[in-house]
Amino acid sequence: MEIVDLSQDIYQGMMVYPGHLKTVVFDHATHEETALRFDSEFSFQTKGLMINDNGPTHVDSFSHLDPAPDALTIDQMSLDLFYGTAVCIDVSDVPAQTDITAEHLEAAERAAGVTVESGDILLLHTGTFGRYGSTPRYLTDFPGLGESGSKWIAGRGVKTFGVDSPTPDNPVSRIYPCHLMCREHGITHYENLANLDRLIGRRFTFAGFPLKLIGGHGGPTRAVALLDSEN
Ligand SMILES: [Zn+2]
Repeated sequence: MEIVDLSQDIYQGMMVYPGHLKTVVFDHATHEETALRFDSEFSFQTKGLMINDNGPTHVDSFSHLDPAPDALTIDQMSLDLFYGTAVCIDVSDVPAQTDITAEHLEAAERAAGVTVESGDILLLHTGTFGRYGSTPRYLTDFPGLGESGSKWIAGRGVKTFGVDSPTPDNPVSRIYPCHLMCREHGITHYENLANLDRLIGRRFTFAGFPLKLIGGHGGPTRAVALLDSEN
């Protein structure tokens, strides 16, 4: 079995969605400081961090995108949403700041030679992270699911989906049809994934368990793909 890391690096200065809390990482305790606490040669070091719950590679909670008072926070959501059979299709030819349509998704599924089954986790390779990485263009130069593309995802019975960009919506949209679809259908998604180019046309197991942050509106995640060698 091969494990592919689908997570972006977490560090001070990393790109986060415009307006979100920026990531702060600092040395909290150093070996030099903690050595004074022990009469042996032992010492330890730790870091402190401040992070937006929707900052790095993460999965949205329903409470993030739905104002209903009973919308589930990240700690209340079923772990089943974060693990399961998955496929990845390629929409990296869709131009930045335009809509990914149902037709794009149909064509991408055909080209990938996989079938999106009901209950699958679907990853969409937009190519954004691979193209722009830790540069400001990562936050602006990508396409997003328009109304028809969002409906397609719900209609195909996808359990959870994910993108390698800051949001599955078109960054210039003032409607956010994809997040509205997620609210309506109770489907959540991953943002800021990486390395999806390695999974196009493959069937694999996805695992992306979020931090168990009580009341959290998203969960930073170490997302991975587990590939059988014969896939
Ligand atoms: Zn989102």
